Amino acid sequence: MTPMTTTPTAHEDAALALALAGRAAGQQPQWPDPDRVREVRTELGALPPLVQRAAVDRLRERLAEVALGRALVVQGGDCAETFAGNTPEHVRSNLHVLLHCATLFEVASGLPVVPLGRVAGQYAKPRSSPVGPDGLPAYRGDIVNGEAATAGARTPDPQRMLTAYAGAGAALDVLEAVSAATRTELFTSHEALLLDYEVPLVRDGYGLSGHFLWIGERTRDLDGAHVALARRIANPLGLKLGPTTTPEQAVAYAEALDPDRTPGRLTLISRMGADRVTDVLPPLVEAVEAAGHPVVWLCDPMHGNTEVSASGLKTRRFERIAAEVTGYFAVHRALGSHPGGLHLELTGDDVTECLGGREDLREEQLPERYLTGCDPRLNGRQSIDLARIVAEILVERPARRTPVAV
Ligand code: PEP
Ligand code: MN
Repeated sequence: MTPMTTTPTAHEDAALALALAGRAAGQQPQWPDPDRVREVRTELGALPPLVQRAAVDRLRERLAEVALGRALVVQGGDCAETFAGNTPEHVRSNLHVLLHCATLFEVASGLPVVPLGRVAGQYAKPRSSPVGPDGLPAYRGDIVNGEAATAGARTPDPQRMLTAYAGAGAALDVLEAVSAATRTELFTSHEALLLDYEVPLVRDGYGLSGHFLWIGERTRDLDGAHVALARRIANPLGLKLGPTTTPEQAVAYAEALDPDRTPGRLTLISRMGADRVTDVLPPLVEAVEAAGHPVVWLCDPMHGNTEVSASGLKTRRFERIAAEVTGYFAVHRALGSHPGGLHLELTGDDVTECLGGREDLREEQLPERYLTGCDPRLNGRQSIDLARIVAEILVERPARRTPVAV
């Protein structure tokens, strides 16, 4: 754990720096040159925000409709964006799959669907160990270091935060073009993991590195720096909840991150695993709803269903992913709560990273086009296969529930 420093750089919010000071910050790199980090933070602080406050507010309003049971969300994109992979073609192909899923949900449910890309900032990754099996510092995403297995590439380089900022800007241009061409409102999201990047992009109480920012499963310490940052920004927030979460903890998070009970402020993203979801999720939903927090519930069926294939590649089985989704909808149906939507790792590129689906991708095919910078993604066909399963569930029982008066 890295304790946060106290001194803000030239443009940074002094109150925010104070709020973070001394708090444990998990998953931060060991930068070799702290002076260079301060210089980069100063530069980031002087750059224009990546997104506008009005669009962030607009997303919160649209998510409020989801919280009230009158809309759905589909959030998705790469596990880890990379600098080399940040081409207009790649960003477009991911967004097109996301919009295809959104359309299927819309037609099936009769509800509007909010498309939320994992895009334009999804560059930092939490790792299970700071050192990889090769003895080198772990790859923490392109915003921190390089994936190549050399000491040089793996040395954290703060200059990469400026490359990430430029890359996010380029991806946002593509997003705007797709949005205009398809006449849909598209929003960005990423895990607000790397604090040296996020803090300088906080402006007037908004985290303007993206529209929707989430806290990951590994950095959701209630007293830690990530939660402290999230509390001080007005963005709609996400929080990943894994299978060890207790109902008391879920309520404590809701109190901390949504003290005013604002619909659309907080999205709880459940990632329990296909075997656990029907046992672990119901008490969490019941406790949070009983405490009066109008949260959006989302299902991330990816991160609780990862396994290592015989060839050593990380993969996920389509049927496990589909089983978690099905279990998730069954839980909400039983409780009468609103199953707000999905959070997926997907790409429109023709990759071979997850097993199964209609094309029945097999283990021996994984190495053919295994291109992910981190976790295995559903390819375009597998994403649509999954969206069709969801659409069938939505048709059976429309997600609409009696609007709640607020
Ligand atoms: C992710 O979304 O890529 C991720 C690391 O998820 P989690 O925090 O749920 O493990
Ligand atoms: Mn991932």
